[in-house]
Parts: sequence; structure tokens; C-alpha cells
Amino acid sequence: MNQFQYNKANESLSAIKLKAKDPNAHFLAGGTNLIDLMKMGVVTTSKLVDINHLPLSKIEKLPKSLRIGALVTNSDLADNEFVKSNFPLLSLAINAGASPQLRNMATVGGNLMQRTRCPYFFDLTMPCNKRVPGSGCGALEGYSRMHAIFGASDKCIAVNPSDMNVALRALDAVVHVSGPKGERKINIADFHRLPGDNPEMDNTLKKDELITAVELPYSPFAKNVYYLKVRDRSSYAFALVSAAVALHIENGTIKEARLAMGGVAHKPWRLTAAEEFLKGKPVSEENFKQASQIAMQGAKAYKDNQFKLKLAPNTLVQSLKMASGLAS
Ligand code: SF4
Repeated sequence: MNQFQYNKANESLSAIKLKAKDPNAHFLAGGTNLIDLMKMGVVTTSKLVDINHLPLSKIEKLPKSLRIGALVTNSDLADNEFVKSNFPLLSLAINAGASPQLRNMATVGGNLMQRTRCPYFFDLTMPCNKRVPGSGCGALEGYSRMHAIFGASDKCIAVNPSDMNVALRALDAVVHVSGPKGERKINIADFHRLPGDNPEMDNTLKKDELITAVELPYSPFAKNVYYLKVRDRSSYAFALVSAAVALHIENGTIKEARLAMGGVAHKPWRLTAAEEFLKGKPVSEENFKQASQIAMQGAKAYKDNQFKLKLAPNTLVQSLKMASGLAS
């Protein structure tokens, strides 16, 4: 049995100090991912720093943005009336993830830190560069149905499993973190990493840094949004492909589009070329189909996930149709 220390922190600085002292310590919030990984032996820790008593559970309306504390649960965030009215894409994405019980426990900060669901990552008998750097990638030679079609490397082809992260990417969230040297902000685009040569690193957070909040700038993207998640079961399953769409439409013309996909890359995948294409164009199925083809440029499938090359653009087109009102 792996023995570890348990510490409860009451304020952020003491939590950061506790973790900074021990490179193999972990913060514990909802524990919906970390505890599973510990039980399976995928993660071994020397110290858990319980951060559940830190004052990070508020949702605050600021003049230009909404600040969401890192310990706000997924349920509280998705059900918040202001979020439902002003950031409905976020509510839709969160409610597409996990189960009600898990959403009651899981936190915003934990969701950002969620590890991949690649089966080889969980199987201690198989090689996995993410779990044991340098050991190889079981998925590259094995079963790759759930894996990436964008931004993968020859070291790792895993995907980020979070639904919330896809909406945050589309909405240009900013992650607030705190460490021994003070506070800093990380744009969501720079928070999650592509695997490159170091797939063991999921994100750019430093080991001794704590996520304190996520900030969402107010935007005109509340009316025409949709989150479409395609999965093997209708609930409690990870996305094969998902699409987060937010459109600013005036008189039938798309003034601006925000598009992101999940289940396709090691990080939530923003579709900027397709966004540019749609800007100034009328709402039409033809334009949505062209945008989806542009979005797929650079996609590369592996042995078992060729179907994603069709599923991804189809999911995007349907999501665009739902967001714009062309379909219901
Ligand atoms: Fe590990 Fe990544 Fe390969 Fe999966 S895809 S086995 S997580 S290295």
C-alpha cells in the first residue's frame, strides 16, 4: 500500500507552501479524478493537501468579466442563473459531462486538471509515455479509436477528456493561478499543452502553483450557442467528438464566431480558420459545410479513428445549425 500524508489547508498560501515543500504532493479538491488514479496506482502521492476549505467557491460578477472560484462545483456553475443567461454554452458543456453525482463533487479547477482517459494510461502493464516517460505509447501500436486527430506527436496521441474545457476555450477564459512567487494569469489557449516530446505534462501550471479562479470576459455570445457531444452512450461517457459553437448573428449575418472541439486533441481545439471564414457570411448550411472542411485542415487519423475525419466535420455542421437556428 502506498502511504501518504494528509494535510488540510485553510488558506491558499499555506496550501501552496505545503505543496511546494514536496514535489510529489497533490492538491485534493473534489477528488473525482485523482482518487481514481490513486486507487489504480496510476498516480502515487506522498502528500495530499486538501484545499476544500479555501475561500475559492464564489461566482463574482466583475465589471467586464465573471470570476469563477476554482472550487465552484460543476453543478453549481452549470445551474447558476447568471451563467445560464450569459454563458449558456458553459452550462450546456458542463451538463454534457459525467453524471449528476460527479458534477456535484467535481470542481472547476479539477476539471481543468483532468487527466486523459486513454486506456493505456490506466493500464499499469502497458507502455505509456504519459504515465512513465520514455516507456513508449501503447495506443500508437494498439487500439486508437478514442484518440486524437489534431496536434498529436509520435510520443502520445491522447485527448483531453473534459467538456467544460472545450467551452472555456471557445469563450476565451483566463485561468488565475497563485504560487510562491505571486499570482499570474494564463490564457486558456496556453494552459493545456500539446504532447510533443513531453506528454507527461498536460498543462503549463507549475508544480507549486494553485488554480484560484477562472475568468470569463463578457461577450455577445449568449443567444446563438450549442454544445454537441457525440459519444458511445447517451450519458456518462467521454466524447468521441464534441463541438462548442457560439455565434454573434445580426440580421442573418455572422458578425463573429467562436468554435472549439473536444475529443480530437491533447488540448481543447480552437478552430480559428473556420471562425475567420464565417465572419461576415450569411447563416447558411453551405457556409457551415465549407467552414467544417476548413476546420479539418491538418487532421490526421490513426488506425482505429478514421471515422473521426467524417464525424468531426458533421458534428460541427450540426452544432452550427443548432446554434444559428437552422436546425432544432
Ligand atoms: Fe499514454 Fe498518450 Fe500513448 Fe495513451 S496515447 S498510451 S496516454 S502516451
